[in-house]
Amino acid sequence: QTGRPAAVGGGASTDASATIEQQVALARHAFSSGRTRPLAWRRHQLEALNRMLSECAPRIRGALMTDLAKNEVESQVTEIESVIMEARTTLRNLERWTRDRKVRTPLVLGTARAMIRREPLGTVLIIGPWNYPIHLLLMPLIGALAAGNAVVLKPSEVAPACSALMADVLPRFLDADAVQVVEGGVEETTRLLEHSFDHIFYTGNGAVGSIVMAAAARTLTPVTLELGGKSPVWVDDSAQLDAAARTIAWGKFSNCGQTCVAPDYVLTTPELVEPLAQAISRAARQMYGPDAQESHDYGRIINALHTERLAGLLDSGRAFLGGDVDVADRYVAPTVLLDVAPDSPVMQDEIFGPILPIVAVAGLDDAIDFINARPKPLALYGFTTRDAVREQLLRRTSSGGVGFNLVITQLGVPSLPFGGVGGSGMGRYHGEFSVTTFSHEKAVLHKRPGTDPMALARPPFSWLTRKLL
Ligand code: NAD
Repeated sequence: QTGRPAAVGGGASTDASATIEQQVALARHAFSSGRTRPLAWRRHQLEALNRMLSECAPRIRGALMTDLAKNEVESQVTEIESVIMEARTTLRNLERWTRDRKVRTPLVLGTARAMIRREPLGTVLIIGPWNYPIHLLLMPLIGALAAGNAVVLKPSEVAPACSALMADVLPRFLDADAVQVVEGGVEETTRLLEHSFDHIFYTGNGAVGSIVMAAAARTLTPVTLELGGKSPVWVDDSAQLDAAARTIAWGKFSNCGQTCVAPDYVLTTPELVEPLAQAISRAARQMYGPDAQESHDYGRIINALHTERLAGLLDSGRAFLGGDVDVADRYVAPTVLLDVAPDSPVMQDEIFGPILPIVAVAGLDDAIDFINARPKPLALYGFTTRDAVREQLLRRTSSGGVGFNLVITQLGVPSLPFGGVGGSGMGRYHGEFSVTTFSHEKAVLHKRPGTDPMALARPPFSWLTRKLL
């Protein structure tokens, strides 16, 4: 090994591209030194990450309050505890998830032994989004570290307080060479993508996803793309309407609808539209009171641009609930839209805000046709007590994941893969799936010396010709 590359900061060039260059070189050097491979190092990093989350919890909650006006309890549960749980699960299973797996060999190979070894990929790039700026940066980090990689993290510049906090605290708790945090926006990410990585894990919108994939194609770098889409909800007349409404309202209005697996729109039969709208409105008022703008439990839209984008969608229907916008306060009220035409603006792209269209369809078949006429969503939800309806939804639609009589909760199960399909992404993670995402599964075949199972395959073939042909 050559010596460690020049350190970042303290006398190093302040030119941004030079710094990115150095940071990538430091991560690469840490990986090639071999020190990220032993399980002891990986365990140490995961424990340190959990220490950081516990000790810095007040600062994390503060940064989330600044960026998203996220209520402290919500931040604690969705951005801190959920990550701690994932790291704990990973620590508990680390040995099992990373050990060699013996597999069967064909009889013809005699006593040769076959196994799969999970080896780290090398230096990986993780690009995070702004909507859960801590959770969605650190969850993939857990898998990358558990698999023994060095990591370059790029938090979203759209959540600047969280980005600055991660850049400040992560190097103080984790191996400061092997885990680099590069802050910045499009310019910095573009520069990062000019480097060669061993894997790129991107969470965000599909337009940037294709930029990332095109950049990765230049160096044949594998990618995981965690994207979004319009996640539909089907509600039928067998569903418990109040319970369904409470669940849908919670999923749609938490974090102001800025959740990749939030219910995007509801499909139901005409006679259920008004009762459901009423029940969802009741549930919203129970959560946030008569004026959500006054509620400490209700968040804000990430910035004025997105607030204005959402305001523009309100003309797509009649606001049964809400419909108020205060751009200066980045506030969009919890809103239920009725009389929405399927080709209206709100039904085009992922809403990513607290606006819930309820669209009437004739029945389940029409709902399935409606869903299948659009790109494959990240999540699909069904509120029904009928087994046959559940089976129809599963069999006749395609989505990253499915939840019945619940929303969002499916991604809290570490033994379930989390990821999209088609337009909602490629690849998956969480739990052991994260370890496989950030590992290469190396095929190893070991023949005992002195045995010669391939003797028959060598010419001359005259004997085999008589036997086989
Ligand atoms: P964003 O604007 O923060 O972008 C994500 C990342 O891409 C950022 O780090 C940003 O710096 C980088 N980026 C932006 N433009 C770029 C460019 N031109 N070149 C290179 N990099 C660039 O977040 P966003 O995309 O607005 O996030 C919202 C979207 O993400 C929604 O569609 C949502 O559904 C999806 N999402 C998906 C998941 C998931 O797990 N599948 C989770 C959260 C969000």
